[in-house]
Amino acid sequence: MQPHMLKAFVSNRVAKIQSLCSNSQWRHVSTKCNPADVLSRGADAKDLRDNDLWWQGPEFLLRNITDPEEYHCPKDKTFEQELKRNVTVSCAVTNDFDFLDKLLNLTNNYSKLIRILSFCFRFLKNCLHKNVETDFLTAAELDNAEQLLIKQVQSTTFAKEITALQDGKSVPVSSKLKSQDPFLDSNSILRVGGRLKNANLEYDAKHQIILPNGHKITKLIFEFYHKRYLHVAAQGLLHQVRLRYWPLNGKSTARMIVHNCVICYKNKPVIADQIMGHLPKEKVTPTSAFTNCGIDFCGPFLIKFKNQRKGIYSKIYVAIFICLSTKAIDLEIVSDLSSEAFIASLKRFMARRGKMAMIITDNATNFKGNKSELNRLFNLIRKPDECPANYLSSERINWKLIPLDLPILVVHGKQV
Ligand SMILES: [Zn+2]
Repeated sequence: MQPHMLKAFVSNRVAKIQSLCSNSQWRHVSTKCNPADVLSRGADAKDLRDNDLWWQGPEFLLRNITDPEEYHCPKDKTFEQELKRNVTVSCAVTNDFDFLDKLLNLTNNYSKLIRILSFCFRFLKNCLHKNVETDFLTAAELDNAEQLLIKQVQSTTFAKEITALQDGKSVPVSSKLKSQDPFLDSNSILRVGGRLKNANLEYDAKHQIILPNGHKITKLIFEFYHKRYLHVAAQGLLHQVRLRYWPLNGKSTARMIVHNCVICYKNKPVIADQIMGHLPKEKVTPTSAFTNCGIDFCGPFLIKFKNQRKGIYSKIYVAIFICLSTKAIDLEIVSDLSSEAFIASLKRFMARRGKMAMIITDNATNFKGNKSELNRLFNLIRKPDECPANYLSSERINWKLIPLDLPILVVHGKQV
């Protein structure tokens, strides 16, 4: 009996015994033929008196055995229990069409899936070659595994298109890939043709790898990029994915991935809804155009007079009148920032549109500045002097300033 065939505990002791003496000095004695076992297992004096094994020894000692081979070791079940189990490794090669599905169901982590596949290919490579690789996975191995995985997915979902392209034909007219102008690259991967061949972009960004709509691997890639870019929103996610892949119907896939993300759902901020104020009376009351209007200024604009050939440009401003109820607009030129020029523009406006009942101006905060012209314009709007105020009072026109932080009127004024 070779020690390596026995279990570790027995094997170590058998090896020790065999190293100290030769095999010919040892024979196996079963427990039924061993007188020592009679006492070690307990026996009454009466049993011991009648026990022939105890008084005479085992039967084979009474015979004269010259050849050790004549004595056969009896079968003993306890002896067989000390033998190591025979482990048989069998490898069967089957053409399993569900292999891809089983592989994709192994994990929901795309990076982990590629690593699993890479280790499978390394195992095959180590079986075929003597140079065994045991270090960490290289980028080339990961790329190779990813390409083979995507090629396998494309061969199952775009079989007609790939067959047509391999035959030198274009993809069928009814194909969903027709608009993508697909082609097969050197690794037989289906990529987008497009019109960016001469663009200064990377090859993957110009000719993306086509991914089928709704496939498990498409979802895994989207989830991978969603987490890689810190739970980016749908539009950003689609942009990042399209730098390397071209998923069919990618927009809805990106929205679905972001919508189903538990972390995004938990951290989704709740936007406070503000209660909108009531619209002003002038805005919701039907009146004729420019009965209630707002005034704002824009400018300055540099002009040259008609008969002027030389000299500096002159500044003018534009007064914008906007009807509060109809949003109609009227533009009047103001020659300068004097009160007289402003009253003149008001007169021109009323001569054309009729007299208004009320004028609203904003606080002219956009005119705040250091330049003297802007300050003058700001003062003209914000702090009208007696001249326009007296004129408006004489015309029975109310002048109002928009209160600060009153959004509805500010927005209305900005629409000008
Ligand atoms: Zn998320």
